[in-house]
Amino acid sequence: MTRPITAHIHTGALRHNLARMRRAAPDARLWAVIKADAYGHGIARAYEGLRAADGFALLEVQEAERLRALGWRGPILLIEGVFDARELEACSRLQLMHAVHCEEQIEWLAAHHAQAPHSVFLKLNSGMNRLGFTPGAYRSAYARLAALPQVASVGHMTHFADADGTSGIAAQWSAFQRATDGLPGERCVCNSAATLLHGAGEAGCDWVRAGIALYGSAPDFPTHSALDWELRPAMSLRTQLLSVQQLAAGEAVGYGFTFRAEAPMRIGTTACGYADGYPRSAGGGAPVLVDGVRTRTIGRISMDMLAVDVTDVPQARMGSEVTLWGASAGGAVLPIDEVAQAAGTISYELMCAVAPRVPVVLDEDLYTE
Ligand SMILES: *Cc1c(COP(=O)(O)O)cnc(C)c1O
Repeated sequence: MTRPITAHIHTGALRHNLARMRRAAPDARLWAVIKADAYGHGIARAYEGLRAADGFALLEVQEAERLRALGWRGPILLIEGVFDARELEACSRLQLMHAVHCEEQIEWLAAHHAQAPHSVFLKLNSGMNRLGFTPGAYRSAYARLAALPQVASVGHMTHFADADGTSGIAAQWSAFQRATDGLPGERCVCNSAATLLHGAGEAGCDWVRAGIALYGSAPDFPTHSALDWELRPAMSLRTQLLSVQQLAAGEAVGYGFTFRAEAPMRIGTTACGYADGYPRSAGGGAPVLVDGVRTRTIGRISMDMLAVDVTDVPQARMGSEVTLWGASAGGAVLPIDEVAQAAGTISYELMCAVAPRVPVVLDEDLYTE
């Protein structure tokens, strides 16, 4: 038998979450953000579930090429634009829209022999100070870009730094309004958090860019849970118990003996460790499901194994199903946001970190309506 760990990708959940995000932004078109190999779900698998999106937003030309090879003829947006002048040829060939966030990208375009003029989105740095033209430089950048024969249309984009937090979007949104006021072109603004919390209508945008919510995580956890937002997990990481041990009071578990039983207890050893992408920082109390029953990790996470408390799961034995996050085969759900919180991180990082050695399967049926 092979090592029993699998990441299940639920295309039905992706479809459901896409429909949910459309309800949050009924008047906008939706870019499904599939950067980082679709947040670890795999581009081809994500495409299965998300092909009803209006377009796909990602980073690398190679990923855009894969998407075209899968048959996608609709819009694709390179959200950071091209990384060098040569990539503009691929943009022409693959008909990619691309962000323009700096002077160099404008110069590359001005020198490019375009087969057909490109559609671009000019990026405003509205306060996050990561990428984009400052409000003071925005209008002249727009004028230069719009005048290029290589350019068919110029849209406007910016990115919110704290849509899910206490700062909200108000200051960045008004900076965007002022910078783009009166300029023609589509507005592409909201991420998942801004779309769910503030609505695209309120923000007045033509396109939203939804990522994390499509994969079933609440962008503003713990204020809201995925359940509150009616989002379903698109990824379930499951393994099995390799063994069950009976501990006497005072016995310890794992490297460093960091856990010691206060009373007699049963523990299970599972076939998942940090080399599978499970965070080592989730040792000592992160939630986990055994046979669909909620329990917790104990002691340190090893490279290939981790220990769980099965004292209150009397049926647990070698081979029992363990769900690290997502849904159990029986449909019990452990939100990835809760595991991420226990590990001191966010769901994005867990999804992206699932290791190449973990086999991935498509699980169409769970969650089909
Ligand atoms: C990743 C990203 C998004 C999507 O953000 P989520 O929080 O996953 O919805 C949107 N816009 C830009 C520019 C991004 O980099």
